[in-house]
Parts: sequence; structure tokens; C-alpha cells
Amino acid sequence: LLQIYRPLNFIGFVYRELRQGLTDIEEMFKLLDQNPEIEDRADAKPLAVTGPVIRFEDVSFHYDADRPILKGVSFDVPAGKTVAIVGPTGAGKSTISRLLFRFYDVTGGRITIDGQDLRDVTQASLRSTIGMVPQDTVLFNDTIGYNIEYGRPGASQDEVREAARMAQVGSFIDALPRGYETPVGERGLKLSGGEKQRVAIARTILKSPSILILDEATSALDTKTERDIQQALDEVSRNRTTVVIAHRLSTVVNADEILVLRDGQVAERGNHWSLLQQEGLYAQMWNRQREASEAAERLARTQDDP
Ligand code: ATP
Repeated sequence: LLQIYRPLNFIGFVYRELRQGLTDIEEMFKLLDQNPEIEDRADAKPLAVTGPVIRFEDVSFHYDADRPILKGVSFDVPAGKTVAIVGPTGAGKSTISRLLFRFYDVTGGRITIDGQDLRDVTQASLRSTIGMVPQDTVLFNDTIGYNIEYGRPGASQDEVREAARMAQVGSFIDALPRGYETPVGERGLKLSGGEKQRVAIARTILKSPSILILDEATSALDTKTERDIQQALDEVSRNRTTVVIAHRLSTVVNADEILVLRDGQVAERGNHWSLLQQEGLYAQMWNRQREASEAAERLARTQDDP
């Protein structure tokens, strides 16, 4: 009976949380992706962070035993540096961020932060060290100020404003008649995808984690929005150990290292210019995206000027 009761109880819990308007995606992610098999070891210690340096050592992973997703992936993210992961859809990019958050355990190899295997540290300490800007931020049904302050409950109004300014969303909020008191979400102001992402960035700036995961939105953005978001991301990732799961290659040009993932393996690695010179998968993806954005700009021009 317990076997039936536990999952039902869990579904009931998720349902209640949803009813209460818990629509923050990071929380949702925690709930829905929660894997009851992941438990702290009896002797788990809090993660001690100095750098922090992230290391993937020959990491393999599958969700289902008959379908390997990652096959021997190795890379380092040195302290304060940015590594971007790009590659075709389904290659396993977001899986890397889930493993880093320890939503799942690796099935081979190991992941360490400053030399500590993720399986040896408490999940609470791991998750407070990592900040995540998710693909799609769904906001709480509360004020825009609350949605930012959630990054560090108890932060002062000045700190919330400063985070919003750094995330390039401050002047947008100041222009609203009720400013930071404006209700957002289902029953309030509807924000565009780009605005929501900047609110999520402001929240993360306030949380000030030593490790940052940016799971970039897939949706196409106009050039101005893309530039604003890029500026906000540059701000939040400065001097932080950062992993960017990138869909738009324009955001990875300045990464210290880019990994091109294909079929669960690192097919190419290097910085933007060295990868273009390799004339491989990255160069192909780059050229394809450039052609697509040039075509979109041409179309926009003809629409402006019939
Ligand atoms: P995209 O660019 O489309 O976001 P991705 O490279 O981030 O793709 P992942 O989300 O890491 O890809 O998924 C890798 C593979 O794992 C996909 O084939 C996906 O269908 C599969 N997968 C993802 N999550 C699960 C899950 N919970 N259970 C089983 N398979 C899954």
C-alpha cells in the first residue's frame, strides 16, 4: 500500500503547490524533477567552495538503461570562467545542467566541484551554491519586486533596485505606474519572454551564487532584446564560474571555451574563432544561424519599407 500511497501523496503535494500559485520554474523544476532516489549520504558534508572549479570526468548518463544520453563527457570550468555548451537539439545539453544540480546521479565517471564529488555533499549546500537562470521563467502571482527579492529574501529595496538595474530591467519597472508594486503573472501584468528572463537574471544577481547555470531560451529574440539580455548575462556571469547552455550562438562568442555536443559526446571544443577555423559542426551551425538572421533582417526591412 505504501508503494501506491507515496507517489499519490507526491502528486497531491505537487498539485497543492501548483494551486497555491507556485509557478516559479526553478521551484517547479525542483518538484517535478525531484528524484526520490537522490538522497544525501549519511556522512554527506556541506560543499566547501573556494574557486569554484567544476570538473566533469568521463561522465556517462542515461535516463533509460537502453538509451545512453551522455557518453564519456570530460571538461573543466576553471574558477570565474565561462564554458558554453552548444549542439543539435536532443544532444544532451540540458542534461548536463540537471546533473550539475544533482537532479540525477551520473551513471559513470564523476562530477566534482573544488575536488568534492557531488554525491558526497549535501544537496542543500550544492543548490545554494548554484544559481540557475532557466529557459522559461514563470513568475509568482505577486509583485514584480517580490519576484526579484525572492533571490534573497530580506534584501533591501535598494538591493532589489540595483539588481534590476544590472539586469537591464530597472528602467522598464520604473516606467510602470506602480513600479515595483506592480502585480505580475496570471492575474497581473504579462511580461514578454525577454522581460521575464531579465527578471530571472535580477533574481539571480541578488542571490549571488558562486556557480551559475544559464539555460538560454530557444525562442528567437529581436536584436535589441538580445543585446539587452546579453548585457544582463555578462553582468551576472562576470567573475563567476558559469555554464551556458546555449541555443543562440551569438551569446557564446565571448565564452572562454565552447563545447560542441553531438550524440552525447564532445565533438569539438575551443573558443569561437578556433572552432570557426576547424570548419566542422560549429562552423556549419554558425553559418546557418547567420543566414537565418540575415534573412529575418531582410524580411523586417521589406516590411518596414514596402
Ligand atoms: P534541446 O536543445 O532541444 O533543449 P538538449 O541538448 O538540451 O536539447 P536534453 O534535454 O539534455 O537535450 O535531452 C537529451 C535527450 O534525453 C533527449 O533525447 C530527451 O528526449 C531525453 N530526455 C530528457 N529528459 C528525459 C527524461 N526525464 N526521461 C527520459 N528521457 C529524457
